[in-house]
Amino acid sequence: MSSTASIARSLILAIVALVPAAARAADRPPNLIVILADDLGYADVGFQGARDIPTPRLDALARAGVRCTAGYVSHPFCSPTRAGLLTGRYQQRFGHENNPAYLPNDAAVGLPLDRKTIADTLRAAGYATGAVGKWHLGAHPSFHPLRRGFDEWFGLIGGGHRYFDHNRFQTDPQAARQEYLIPLQRGTEPVAAEGYLTDLITREAVGFIERHTDRPFFLYLAYNAPHTPLEAPPRLLERVASISDPKRKTYAAMVCGVDDGVGAVLDALRAKGIERDTLIVFLSDNGGPISVTNCSNAPLAGAKGTLFEGGIRVPFVVHYPAKLAPGTFDRPVSSLDLHPTFAALAGKPLAPGASDGVDLLPHLAKTADKPLERDLFWRADGGKRFAIRSGDLKYVVNRDSPEKLFDLAADIGETRDLFTERPDDVARLRARYAAWNADNIAPLWSNPAPAPAKKAATKKAAAKKAAQP
Ligand code: CA
Repeated sequence: MSSTASIARSLILAIVALVPAAARAADRPPNLIVILADDLGYADVGFQGARDIPTPRLDALARAGVRCTAGYVSHPFCSPTRAGLLTGRYQQRFGHENNPAYLPNDAAVGLPLDRKTIADTLRAAGYATGAVGKWHLGAHPSFHPLRRGFDEWFGLIGGGHRYFDHNRFQTDPQAARQEYLIPLQRGTEPVAAEGYLTDLITREAVGFIERHTDRPFFLYLAYNAPHTPLEAPPRLLERVASISDPKRKTYAAMVCGVDDGVGAVLDALRAKGIERDTLIVFLSDNGGPISVTNCSNAPLAGAKGTLFEGGIRVPFVVHYPAKLAPGTFDRPVSSLDLHPTFAALAGKPLAPGASDGVDLLPHLAKTADKPLERDLFWRADGGKRFAIRSGDLKYVVNRDSPEKLFDLAADIGETRDLFTERPDDVARLRARYAAWNADNIAPLWSNPAPAPAKKAATKKAAAKKAAQP
């Protein structure tokens, strides 16, 4: 290199170093973060109306972002909803309709390998990709996050985990057979870890952000909180001391832990000067299991596992200061929309028909040519239960429940059944569901059987054990 060229290069480097990170970030695709809570009740964060659970950081995120008042996931329980979110396809299209058991030797029970994830798409677009938290999309090595588009992984590979007891498997052979006690992993290696699991997950997420400011990144931050087991440290329990019910108190403390995590993520983005150019979506993977944690889905009917709104409608915020003005968005949006939205933002839009979702950004930014109108569908138990939302009407068939029709605009709580009053609408929605369902396949595996009860369990306890992870 000539001395002139060398001087010129030094000058350019000096100038680049002087340009704030935020200005440089504006010239490239945004960073993308999904923050997923697990089994969070619809009404259990401040921005959704909670009064007894302080969530200041989530509330600030919602205030500065777009709160989607009709945000949905594609299934009422854990693993299928994650399969839908990460692929952008209705998971019934490819048989991922039940929770996979923890089967590290079974290459047939997990997110089918011919399915592309958001991470696959974004890695191909030049993004750094990281997954932290709960996986629950198959325990066989072929389904591992590092094989599904992620460069980095830290977390629990199964459907849940103890919050303090991370390392017992190393000394207790019985513990190694319990899914909630299997080792946490970094990459493919088991790791010994100390501390409250929600904090560990947050620490890893912040570390990922801090290591990847040189190019756009995608972070899938999937907390297992506030899913059972109900465990929280004193510092979080103190914040909800006014709650007298012990179950709800611990659950609420776990929500506070997630709130701290969201705050730490925002602080890390701010410290790096990239908060404006980072899009964050916050949502829950399904509705709250009221009888298990004493959470609240008010004013919605039903709970996790049902196809009433309480099972599938979730807190849903999109925060992207550079492009989205704060406000609310009331048309239905879905977790299926994230893959096409992120692909478009990365400059690699998905091919037509490659997703069942839509690019949300023009709608949330209010630059779309026309309003967002499409039907949303749900199916569980291989089709024994199903629902469709078309406009404001919802036709739903739940377990042990006759067909029902609701007008969600007037009746968000699904209290007034219009089935007999509006037979034409019922027939129309039933036909639309049948047309959609014609493209689905049978579930590839059944739900894992509940673990055998150790002692003579009460009927109620047995029912809780059978609850979906
Ligand atoms: Ca869940």
